[in-house]
Amino acid sequence: MTKLNRQYFEALDNNDELAPMREKFCLEKGLIYLDGNSLGVLPKATASHISQVITQQWGEGLIRSWNTHQWMEKPTKLGDKVAQLIGSKKAQVLVCDTTSVNIFKLAAAAVKMRPGRSKLITEIGNFATDLYLLQGLAKLLGNQVEVIALPREQVLSAIDEDTALVLLTHVHFKTGAMWDMASVTQMTQKKGALVMWDLSHSVGAMPINLDEINVDLAVGCTYKYLNGGPGSPAFLYVAAQHQDLFEQPLTGWLGHAKPFDFEDDYQGAAGIQQAMCGTPPVLANAALEVALNLMLSVDMHLVRVKSQLMGNLFIQLIQQRCPQFEVESPTDDEQRGSHVSLAHTQGYAIMQALIARNIIGDFRAPKTLRFGFTPLYLRYVDLWDTVEALEDIMLQESWNQPEFLHRQAVT
Ligand SMILES: *Cc1c(COP(=O)(O)O)cnc(C)c1O
Repeated sequence: MTKLNRQYFEALDNNDELAPMREKFCLEKGLIYLDGNSLGVLPKATASHISQVITQQWGEGLIRSWNTHQWMEKPTKLGDKVAQLIGSKKAQVLVCDTTSVNIFKLAAAAVKMRPGRSKLITEIGNFATDLYLLQGLAKLLGNQVEVIALPREQVLSAIDEDTALVLLTHVHFKTGAMWDMASVTQMTQKKGALVMWDLSHSVGAMPINLDEINVDLAVGCTYKYLNGGPGSPAFLYVAAQHQDLFEQPLTGWLGHAKPFDFEDDYQGAAGIQQAMCGTPPVLANAALEVALNLMLSVDMHLVRVKSQLMGNLFIQLIQQRCPQFEVESPTDDEQRGSHVSLAHTQGYAIMQALIARNIIGDFRAPKTLRFGFTPLYLRYVDLWDTVEALEDIMLQESWNQPEFLHRQAVT
């Protein structure tokens, strides 16, 4: 292994095609932000756009803006933008609700599309909301379906002729381990089941080709790598070939074929529109639109290459300088998403000590420190400086102080 030094990282920054993108984000000087996989950074263009939407579209246009500014069409318009990031043709993606709500809508629709099948298969240790929503659905259906959550290595062999749906998160939120989406999709469909991918930790971090690999259903977040803002609306994907049979249970008025006829009886709209429930969040959509335009201006292959190299270099530095940490993420960058997780029994306090030095990552119980790599606004030197700080914290044991050991509500 070659010995790395700071000059090497500076040289990488000087040759980085994505380096100019950093200017487009609001980043306080001296801050190293390694948590864009949890809450993305504010793009500089967002505040003025939202402010204009507030003062002009809302303030002056008032209710007329639903038509003049196409507020009602944003869920499909923004959906078509997200579509470009996940390899989908138009009219298969809708921006609406939260990822949690969208999981429920699509899982319920999947059960209807696979009558007589009782298994909903997922992974133990999947993101909690994914597990909880399947459990809630099973309870609602009077246990007509059963949630089967298995360790990762047992998931594929459990898929059988009684499986209605397989719900997996493409990149694991904790370990960063990545499923081979194409082969799992194929294996699932061979048994006649449907697959739903949760793209929360991969969209905006790598190219994704849902149409090409014939995925059935997908959901994802927009406040992580997509920088849509805290609580920005999520997206859902329903492949065109399923839209005729697709029936989701949250039959709100905006999923109706003619919402402004106010008929008494529900009749679902054609196509992806039927996945809508209620009124779209106009201000949040405005922030998301800015962020999506920014993301669409870069080549996602470049993003992925930089993210992989960042992960590799970070792991190499940790192994050389901070051997106390166990690397929880796959070291093979083909099997890893865009964050690296390290395990340490004092993980929480160590992360607090890093944050006190203006280096922000996060902690996931019981002992995982997460470091997210967001190639649009992160520099290679940031990795060097982070490991330097971490090494010092470990040598000085400066994490071992009451203010770092006390656990806060949101980690
Ligand atoms: C972040 C994340 C979510 C978030 O769901 P919300 O409904 O937005 O709270 C869901 N699934 C996964 C895998 C996530 O990483």
